[in-house]
Amino acid sequence: MHLDIPTVTFLAAVSCLSVALAMWVVAGRYPPVVARAMFRWGWACGLSAFGALLVFLRGTLPDFLSVVVGNTVIVGGFAMAYHAIRVLHERTGLSDRLAAAWVLVCFVLYWTAFELNRDINLRIILVATLKIPVLALIVRELWVGSQRGRRAIEFMLLSVYLLYALVSALRALNVMMTSALDLDSFLSDPVQQFSFVAYFLTLSVSSLFFMLALGEVLTAELYQRATTDPLTGIYNRHAFEELALREISRAQRTGRYPSMLMVDIDHFKQINDRYGHTAGDGVLRAVVGAIQGALRQQDFVGRWGGEEFCVLLPETGRIDALHVAERLRGSVMEMPLSMVAQPVTVSIGVSSPYAHECSFTAMIEVADDALYKAKFGGRNRVVISSV
Ligand code: GH3
Ligand code: MG
Ligand code: MG
Repeated sequence: MHLDIPTVTFLAAVSCLSVALAMWVVAGRYPPVVARAMFRWGWACGLSAFGALLVFLRGTLPDFLSVVVGNTVIVGGFAMAYHAIRVLHERTGLSDRLAAAWVLVCFVLYWTAFELNRDINLRIILVATLKIPVLALIVRELWVGSQRGRRAIEFMLLSVYLLYALVSALRALNVMMTSALDLDSFLSDPVQQFSFVAYFLTLSVSSLFFMLALGEVLTAELYQRATTDPLTGIYNRHAFEELALREISRAQRTGRYPSMLMVDIDHFKQINDRYGHTAGDGVLRAVVGAIQGALRQQDFVGRWGGEEFCVLLPETGRIDALHVAERLRGSVMEMPLSMVAQPVTVSIGVSSPYAHECSFTAMIEVADDALYKAKFGGRNRVVISSV
């Protein structure tokens, strides 16, 4: 098999350029974290394409450009890929700047070797080994910065970079043990040919895996948006209903039924009218904080409407549900508030279950009815009814 190094290098340049253009064209349509990472990956591919093109034009361009600048830009492509992965992980910082500084070090070393020593072997050793620290940074980031849900795909991406680092090390070792190469023997050496194919494959496969990782992040982001109330960060009505339905159907199998609380802020309209909507939003967030602080780990809360919240207490009977509701009412009363100068209280309707009639709709209706009674009874109180 004969692998022609200039052809492989040209293919690498063209494929990277295509990915870069695609990333730049579509990135703006995605949510910010995904878009930022896509732009960076576009730059990584753009640099790799430019570097590969300079190397491909060896003989046409001055050697300084194709050897020194071309190989520096190739390392720059890897440093930018590292930065894109860090942006995706939302973990940017000092080591991104270190990777960029390393590219400058590579430039100086490549240039020095180019000026001082016309030996092609030394240049190949430098080109092969100096990119390994950046590849190691990428591998480390994919190992420590990956999160649940995208570990599998990022592990595959990690393997690609790890393999390429190994190929680069073997390439350097091989050249150390070879007598001085000239351009012809370099082009016909199977190890050199293989290392260029490895470069081409690393660039193409890493782009594919990175796009899959972007897809995972995008899915998580959209899921978060679809299920969360943006003001308070708790479940929205739809997500709460889904989780509650799941819990209720589980209870119908186990016989251990949940209770439900419907929590409504008292005279909230007054708060808005007196202190403004921004203060009202602050009160909503503070009340949610107090509710969450009063709940147990297994309980969950959702925003049912404007200033109404629903809480599901799994496997909880009447007495325990009352205790939780009273604790919750107390912690709202005691929460410190800087944005309003009046006490904020909540009324709570509790529906506690009877096995034969436990349905989500029935629980909501009963809790709502109990809440109405709590309001009617003077507010800042808990009323319990059974389904
Ligand atoms: P009650 O004690 O009977 O519950 O009286 P209330 O004033 O709390 O109830 P009402 O239903 O009359 O008013 C609810 C108010 O909540 C009206 C609405 O403008 C306000 N509201 C709903 N959603 C939001 C929100 O996201 N932010 C703010 N600041 N206010 C909201
Ligand atoms: Mg209210
Ligand atoms: Mg209300």
